[in-house]
Amino acid sequence: MSPQVGEELSSTVVVVGGGPSGASCAYWLATRGISVTVVERKHFPRDKTCGDGLTPRAVVQLEAMGLGSDLAARFHRYEGLRAVAFGKSLEIPWPRHPLMPNYGFVARRRELDALVLANAAAHGATVLEAHDATDVELEGARIRAVLARRSDDGATVRLSGRWFVSAEGSNARLARALGAQRDTRQPLGLAIRTYLPSPRADDPWIESALDVRDERGHVMPGYGWVFPVGDGTVNVGFGILTNQGAWRHVNTTTELERFIDSVRERWDLDVAHPVLAKPTGGKLPMGTSITPVAGPNYLFVGDAAATINPFNGEGISYAMETGRLAASLIAHAVRSGHDAPLARYPRLLSQRYGAYYALGRRFVRLISDPRVMAPGVWLAMRGTATMSPVVHAMANLLPPSLESGVRRVGSLLQR
Ligand SMILES: Cc1cc2nc3c(=O)[nH]c(=O)nc-3n(C[C@H](O)[C@H](O)[C@H](O)COP(=O)(O)OP(=O)(O)OC[C@H]3O[C@@H](n4cnc5c(N)ncnc54)[C@H](O)[C@@H]3O)c2cc1C
Repeated sequence: MSPQVGEELSSTVVVVGGGPSGASCAYWLATRGISVTVVERKHFPRDKTCGDGLTPRAVVQLEAMGLGSDLAARFHRYEGLRAVAFGKSLEIPWPRHPLMPNYGFVARRRELDALVLANAAAHGATVLEAHDATDVELEGARIRAVLARRSDDGATVRLSGRWFVSAEGSNARLARALGAQRDTRQPLGLAIRTYLPSPRADDPWIESALDVRDERGHVMPGYGWVFPVGDGTVNVGFGILTNQGAWRHVNTTTELERFIDSVRERWDLDVAHPVLAKPTGGKLPMGTSITPVAGPNYLFVGDAAATINPFNGEGISYAMETGRLAASLIAHAVRSGHDAPLARYPRLLSQRYGAYYALGRRFVRLISDPRVMAPGVWLAMRGTATMSPVVHAMANLLPPSLESGVRRVGSLLQR
């Protein structure tokens, strides 16, 4: 069907993408009484390839949006991470932290994302599902409108606004068209997952295997995971960190099959009845490796700004944190009537994540070498006393007292 000129829609802010970053941005704008439209390509609920693991960092954001009781009622709560390697298994509870809860959830993204987006709509955001944003209309360097193609009749809808947010995820077409580029010297994650029935689907720990080996027997810079979903199935996946070409050759489908074989017995996995026809995978843009992340009247959030944590591949929490940060800057812009507050976004991202992610990048470079990865994991796996701080630091959950030390080291590296 050839696109026709369709209707016009106007709001103060237009957010492209209704995943956690876009939906949380819209929620925080709408609760401030700012008119906001979310344009989302898919019909929700929709599947999103993910491990479905919510750490305390993600939970705190969801609770702030009033979704605490929904999380508790609908998703599987867990206590921490079981690290498995070199024949050992260590259960590491999430820490007691002054700002975060000490539990997480495993939430299928199909349901979680629909919940977060519906919450934004319930608080006043306009949500246009099944509208694919295909282009932007520019006036100089400023965006004047987003053009979206409605999937049921192919009509073009023009969404005009004063401020714009790209929350398009890892394949951010509009952000790229606006000049966003990933620094290819920085690490990139590749991951794949499937769902399998297991009698242990209510296990109180998410599990990561830290000594997954390639066909030559080298321990790879990544991990295999089994995350219990609580609905009779577990999310089983494999993720690897590539760095300047290193480990790029790894076939994640083959590695996932090998990983499933290795945990099949322990988790009693029913491999004959997978929930999905086949596993699906995706890219994890990380470490704020995308620039620029802001233009005169627009911002990029979540995966579109590569905000995934390079230490553990977690992205949902950072997507919601940056969605919220973008909303607060746009709210300043609305109040003042000019764009200037948006210009602070790159600096604020750097202040929040720069030092920690600089350490993360150095970490990825180190563990890309199997001669470092294997003995490093072996040393950390000596006991919970050595493994707990490692797991907590990698999940960005250190207490503020230790966090400042880590940040100081990170700042030195950054410089
Ligand atoms: C295999 C895998 C496992 C992972 N496991 C975890 C995990 O366990 N825990 C964790 O915290 N993170 C995990 N991540 C990372 C996490 O999935 C992302 O960081 C997170 O989804 C980012 O949220 P987002 O809102 O930025 O983007 P997304 O969740 O990708 O949402 C983007 C939305 O924008 C829509 N969209 C895109 N382009 C357009 C357009 N042009 N017009 C209209 N709509 C558009 C898409 O349809 C989508 O709904 C994993 C990632 C992968 C690939």
